[in-house]
Amino acid sequence: MASSGSASDSGSNAGRAPVDVGVVGGGIAGLTAATALARRGRRVALFEAKRYPFHRLCGEFLSPEFEALSATVGFDVSPLAAIAAPMRRTRFTAPRGRPFEDALPGVALGVSRYAIDAELARQARAAGVELFEGEKVRAVRGGGPDGSSAIVTDAGEVECRRVVLATGKLRTEWRRLVVGGELAEAQHGPLMGLKQHGHLDGVGDVVEIHTFPGGYCGVNPIEGGRVNVCLIARTAAFKPHKTPERFLDWIASRNRHLGARLAAFRPLDEPVLAVQSHFDTGPVDESLRPREALLAGDASGMVSPLAGEGMCLALRGGRAAAVLLDAHLSGRVGWDQVLRLARECEQDEKGGLMRLGKVLEAALFQPALASSLISLLSVAGPLRRAAIVGTRKLSPALPEALRGLATAAPEAT
Ligand SMILES: Cc1cc2nc3c(=O)[nH]c(=O)nc-3n(C[C@H](O)[C@H](O)[C@H](O)COP(=O)(O)OP(=O)(O)OC[C@H]3O[C@@H](n4cnc5c(N)ncnc54)[C@H](O)[C@@H]3O)c2cc1C
Repeated sequence: MASSGSASDSGSNAGRAPVDVGVVGGGIAGLTAATALARRGRRVALFEAKRYPFHRLCGEFLSPEFEALSATVGFDVSPLAAIAAPMRRTRFTAPRGRPFEDALPGVALGVSRYAIDAELARQARAAGVELFEGEKVRAVRGGGPDGSSAIVTDAGEVECRRVVLATGKLRTEWRRLVVGGELAEAQHGPLMGLKQHGHLDGVGDVVEIHTFPGGYCGVNPIEGGRVNVCLIARTAAFKPHKTPERFLDWIASRNRHLGARLAAFRPLDEPVLAVQSHFDTGPVDESLRPREALLAGDASGMVSPLAGEGMCLALRGGRAAAVLLDAHLSGRVGWDQVLRLARECEQDEKGGLMRLGKVLEAALFQPALASSLISLLSVAGPLRRAAIVGTRKLSPALPEALRGLATAAPEAT
């Protein structure tokens, strides 16, 4: 067992005292939930399949709200802000028509997930979270006394009074943990992604979105003078090309602006990161939602990465889970109410963005529509503002439904 914090290194979880909350997944949602609970004095164990620092498929565009939002759970993002590349403008291109460029409604930050997740994990440990790295959870077995569950890893089992599933965009993952077995192909989502870091001259402080048939590719600066190239596409568009390299050649031939960028891109000596297993944007199927655990972050529904708000939303989801579980463990809220309020908050924070993201994504995936939409944005000032601001209008405040619950919380300040 590879743990940090106070957990034993004995290789077995046998005989361990139950924890208040077990968190599965150490992305932004899981790290936030765990840290916010630990700051409230709860005993928390967090299980992350990989070891920090590690690369992750992501555009690495931190929206302007991230800093203020992080402060509400006590994260200090100044070490990240100090290395980040600022972004002030956005630029869209399509296979046909003119590009359009506009100001972002604030300064966004470009920082790698390699740096972000490792820094938040360090702060989670400092807050008292028992962090089990390199520890993949194999199952979550509910049905214990008073709703407790067991988190099962290869090293043994940990009894948890409650569990948060923050396993990310592959919804089959939490289904596999709570239900067991593999899911049918039809239950996977239709999207895939690729990313690579490298050097590219002339990107400046702009986040670029280049559309191509069946997807789009983001190009933006990150720390150390590097650039992140990250794309999301329908798996059906990728499949005929078989390898990332051939797919990149193909998309470069479909959009000349993207082609020019990819031709000048000098990749670092890192493997292309590819998620070819399928994920999807949009809400979770309510009939599949588990009753024995709380879902947080992408696990509870994913907003299109086009919005550039996934990390903020994951942080909000983790924060809501912490407020709800703390109130529940203090006896102030019953479990059914926890599940209901969690759904209400998700709806409130992600519902509108999920719908808008789906519509924009569907349009941008089709070359003719993408070209028309981008031309329209170039001429229609108010519409353009609405599209840019509409995808990022989150305030750092706690959702209305949770305000009465966050008594001893840093969120309340
Ligand atoms: C292509 C792409 C580009 C994106 N670009 C941006 C962007 O530019 N800006 C932005 O804000 N958002 C972006 N997003 C969205 C953002 O990455 C996510 O919304 C955010 O990472 C969600 O955080 P999370 O904690 O829910 O999940 P994740 O960050 O995915 O973390 C889940 C974690 O759970 C772990 N895990 C899973 N199963 C297990 C298990 N069984 N046992 C132990 N650990 C497990 C995984 O290893 C992983 O570390 C993008 C997403 C994609 C796919």
